Amino acid sequence: MTEPTRYQERPIELPVYPAPPPPAPVEGCTLCTLLDVFRAAHNDPESPVYDPSRAIDCNVEIRNHPHTPPRMTLPTGTPEPTGPTTTDGEA
Ligand SMILES: [Zn+2]
Repeated sequence: MTEPTRYQERPIELPVYPAPPPPAPVEGCTLCTLLDVFRAAHNDPESPVYDPSRAIDCNVEIRNHPHTPPRMTLPTGTPEPTGPTTTDGEA
């Protein structure tokens, strides 16, 4: 049986890869264009709808072009200037 280590070992250094560049909206696709507008609004810290997580969701859906089937509940209209949306089931 081996003795347990009783001193601090060297830390393991893991490689860090930069995040991939955000996808470009497909030209001529209305949904991609709309997602690009939402992504810009969600990425802007000055925007009332600032939410980096939702911006990443938009990236996922833009990469999912031609959106059949869509991976997220697709936004409609324009970004609301209010706070976060409420979830279903709340009274
Ligand atoms: Zn598209």
